[in-house]
Amino acid sequence: MGKLLRGLTADGSAQVLILNSADMVEEAKKIHQTAPTPTAVLGRVLTATSLMGCTLKDKGNNITVNFRGDGKCGHVLAVSDYMGNVKGYVQNPTVDLPKVNGKTDVAGAVGKGTLNVVKDTGEKEPYIGITNIGSGEIAGDIATYYAESEQIPTVCSLGMKLDSRGKVISAGGILIQLLPFAAEETIQAIEKNLPIIAEASALFEQAPDNMAIAETILKGIPFDVFDEYEVGYHCDCSRDRMGRALLTINPVQLYNILVEDGAIEVGCQFCNNKFSFTGSDIEEIRKKEGKA
Ligand SMILES: [Zn+2]
Repeated sequence: MGKLLRGLTADGSAQVLILNSADMVEEAKKIHQTAPTPTAVLGRVLTATSLMGCTLKDKGNNITVNFRGDGKCGHVLAVSDYMGNVKGYVQNPTVDLPKVNGKTDVAGAVGKGTLNVVKDTGEKEPYIGITNIGSGEIAGDIATYYAESEQIPTVCSLGMKLDSRGKVISAGGILIQLLPFAAEETIQAIEKNLPIIAEASALFEQAPDNMAIAETILKGIPFDVFDEYEVGYHCDCSRDRMGRALLTINPVQLYNILVEDGAIEVGCQFCNNKFSFTGSDIEEIRKKEGKA
């Protein structure tokens, strides 16, 4: 589980979200057996997506964040619900890159390409925002997405520490968004604190307590904490859903697999759970879905 704090500057100028995601990232690492570089990349994307999920308004809303870069780790995708519970995967979980100047080469692992954000808010059509991946360091790309696609001035900072064996020691993220009619002096105070906010790795390593981090990054800015609650890595896949997805496969292909193997096995790309279906299982699903 991770801990997420939601706060607001006292004058209502900015929303502040702080997530300690160490456990969430370690869980993702275990599920996907990621090498250190993909752990850092996926961990950052999961942390950012969880924070972005918290900006959604209603239950049932969700957000998908997809870094479609040409780097060594391939595409990285994460989905969050409106509370910040996330799931995700990285295309090449075992590719490790050498460090650059002692730092994990997140930018090299992500590469160049597009950042696609899909928000499902229950409307007929989901909201889709596509921006170019800039630095590939994730945090800056998220801020650019908000500025360009949603016209919301945003500060995003993400950080993580892994030990020499790749275990997650600390991880976390900060998202600060200006609200309409933000006061100029609050904007200036946040800008003054930007160098501190940017040090997310050190902040979460030194103080895993969100409240202490809030006090540090909002130095000189009165703020109120709205709430703090637990979020986690959560996959909502089910045998039913996987079975229905099978019906979208070409029936001839499906038949050929069944003849050859006797059953078809599908794995969930978010949690690696495996589900096996025989020919008669699929017939049953067809009948249930009225497609017999
Ligand atoms: Zn799953």
